[in-house]
Amino acid sequence: MFVMINGLQDHPINMMPLSNQAIGVIGGGAAGFFAAIRIAELNKRNKVTIYEQGGQLLKKVRISGGGRCNVTHSLFDINKFCLNYPRGEKELKSPFYNFQAEDTVHWFKDKGIMLVTESDGRMFPSSNSSETIIKCFIDLVKKHNINILKNNKILNINRRNQNRFQLQGKENKFECDKILICTGSSKHGYELAKQVGHSITELAPSLFSFKVKHPLFKDLSGISFKNVKVQLNTPNKKYKQFGPILITHHGLSGPAILKLSAWAAREMKNCKYKAKLQIQWVDKDILVTLQKIKSDHPKSYISNIYPTNIVKRFWLNLLNCNNIDLQKNWSDISKKEINSIVNSLLDFTCNVNGQNRFKDEFVECGGVNLKEVNFKTMESKITPGVHFAGEILDIDGVTGGFNFQNAWTTAWLAANNMNNK
Ligand SMILES: Cc1cc2nc3c(=O)[nH]c(=O)nc-3n(C[C@H](O)[C@H](O)[C@H](O)COP(=O)(O)OP(=O)(O)OC[C@H]3O[C@@H](n4cnc5c(N)ncnc54)[C@H](O)[C@@H]3O)c2cc1C
Repeated sequence: MFVMINGLQDHPINMMPLSNQAIGVIGGGAAGFFAAIRIAELNKRNKVTIYEQGGQLLKKVRISGGGRCNVTHSLFDINKFCLNYPRGEKELKSPFYNFQAEDTVHWFKDKGIMLVTESDGRMFPSSNSSETIIKCFIDLVKKHNINILKNNKILNINRRNQNRFQLQGKENKFECDKILICTGSSKHGYELAKQVGHSITELAPSLFSFKVKHPLFKDLSGISFKNVKVQLNTPNKKYKQFGPILITHHGLSGPAILKLSAWAAREMKNCKYKAKLQIQWVDKDILVTLQKIKSDHPKSYISNIYPTNIVKRFWLNLLNCNNIDLQKNWSDISKKEINSIVNSLLDFTCNVNGQNRFKDEFVECGGVNLKEVNFKTMESKITPGVHFAGEILDIDGVTGGFNFQNAWTTAWLAANNMNNK
């Protein structure tokens, strides 16, 4: 049977409403709210409670995307979308056939929120404010009488019998028929997962900037390059990426670097964030460009005439790094000097010596072992009645809206299953 709910086509599942169920959602973040709303929308008789350890709900949603909330990505081809998950690529395929980025767009549209796409595919609310998303969730939670218990950290999960759980808070105990653990990257959340029999894969930060010290970057913080090829050489593996990079106070950031950090998250942790980074700043035809400048502007200072796709301050640092006198005319620049400039632009090498997560869109790599979860239902294969959604799973995406999409999709599936079983 196919059922239409709020304009979204549901998948063929048994939609027979069950008798009142007490459903406990542990974690008042993106996945927790999305799941709680879906459960309540499917069956008003469900008694849904969100338990949140802190005093603030949807904390990460608020700060996400620099306060704009990059809700999802406009890549609606599921196979291509999955390629953006260093961990979870295979497992997310089937869930995305049930609820993918396009469904997210429809879901928000149905709630009166238009998502707009930026040139790189990232999608944001048209208001450009994460508060729009938060207001939407809070209004729906009120509308559906979903109970929210803030400052209620769940310390333990006790299984009462086959069909009943007891959640132990600091002061109270709560009885539930089903539970959803969506505690993000909280250490205690991983402990709760262990209590119900799950293993946690190796944890490591993902989506971080690289600490790099090099004279080339001196006083260049804020300068970015659009199309850069980067290769990270860790002791055991090489990783390649392409895209924008940003020079920061501490080294390098920007989408290409963040993607490298995601794919190499565990390797980088193991080598203590010490690795070699190779950068191709510009296209391979740079030699021809420089030769043309030399023949067209023989009497100009090398410090004044330079390729148009290079920022002047970067160019001057580059000349200094190659010990080229800034007062020389182009006609005085030797073949050897041109080759050294070309080499620095096409095969620049520096040492990464640490990571920096300050202000970045970081996520945790590692979490509940994916082999222990049924990806049709998000239910635990070890403890029936327990479900998982969001970042607590060993799933993480690159920057661009992929991490929220994981939260929406897995929450959606978990909610469907909790309502129907
Ligand atoms: C600065 C920043 C910016 C980001 N920007 C983006 C972006 O623009 N786009 C994107 O796709 N991703 C972004 N991310 C990643 C994204 O925020 C997360 O992937 C997403 O929030 C995960 O949702 P979640 O519900 O699984 O976890 P969370 O949103 O972290 O929610 C988990 C909740 O559980 C609560 N909790 C934990 N333990 C307990 C307990 N024992 N009892 C009760 N409650 C508990 C926590 O307090 C928290 O409120 C960003 C991350 C950061 C840090």
